Amino acid sequence: MTQPQPRDGERPILAQPPSGAAPPEPPSPITGPSSAMVIVAHPDDAEFLCGGTVAKWCAEGWEVRYVVVTNGDKGSHDPSMHPEKLAAIREEEQRQACRVLGVKECIFLGYPDGFTSDDHELREQIVRLLRRYRPEVVITWDGFRRSFNHRDHRIVGMAAADAIYPLVRDRLFYPRHEEEGLEAHQVNEVLLAGATDPDYEVDITDYWHVKVEAILCHQSQLGGRQREDFLRMREEQHRREGSDRIVERFRRWSIRRPVPAQPPARG
Ligand SMILES: [Zn+2]
Repeated sequence: MTQPQPRDGERPILAQPPSGAAPPEPPSPITGPSSAMVIVAHPDDAEFLCGGTVAKWCAEGWEVRYVVVTNGDKGSHDPSMHPEKLAAIREEEQRQACRVLGVKECIFLGYPDGFTSDDHELREQIVRLLRRYRPEVVITWDGFRRSFNHRDHRIVGMAAADAIYPLVRDRLFYPRHEEEGLEAHQVNEVLLAGATDPDYEVDITDYWHVKVEAILCHQSQLGGRQREDFLRMREEQHRREGSDRIVERFRRWSIRRPVPAQPPARG
């Protein structure tokens, strides 16, 4: 009989040590309440990738903001749908999902779906938002994932990674931000979602129902799937895995390097 899994919140997934070697010291879990920014490509990405983690953090008092890079205006097979109409529907669906989860603010960058490019314009927009809101943790797409993925997911993941290190940290990148009153900032923890090799998991068992409610806000993307379909999926997973524990998995980067001290001003 399978032993019940402990519900201990967030924890690293430990790699197996070589035989005879001492197990590695587990890195400490991410604790809060703190602040987080979720940087994704499309409306609905965040709910599927990390909606349970966001629900958990918001319930714990975290301040969570979303940055949604594209307007999702290609995500429909309906012959009567137009891009402008779809973008408006999807923005409202995303705002509803944010209300369900408790997200403080949702920022849309408004790129057309499928037309992101990994360039300085996108990186600067992300750096500016990181400097303005100064999150401790960022969740974004794993732009390095080796398997099949949407180009917007790859590009947003890479742009966010480059923005986090080193652009946002070093004040001489985009010096006009200082003229706008925005100082350099260090993001200390990054969770890459959709990762090929996850090494960190968040137990969302107690928040799964909130995640489903948030996903259900994206009716334009669900092909008619309803609450009962998600309940059935969970029951099937429970039977398959023998555990009622539900997790979201990520690849974690802990940056936490001390920012170099500024030399004293001359003169
Ligand atoms: Zn997407």
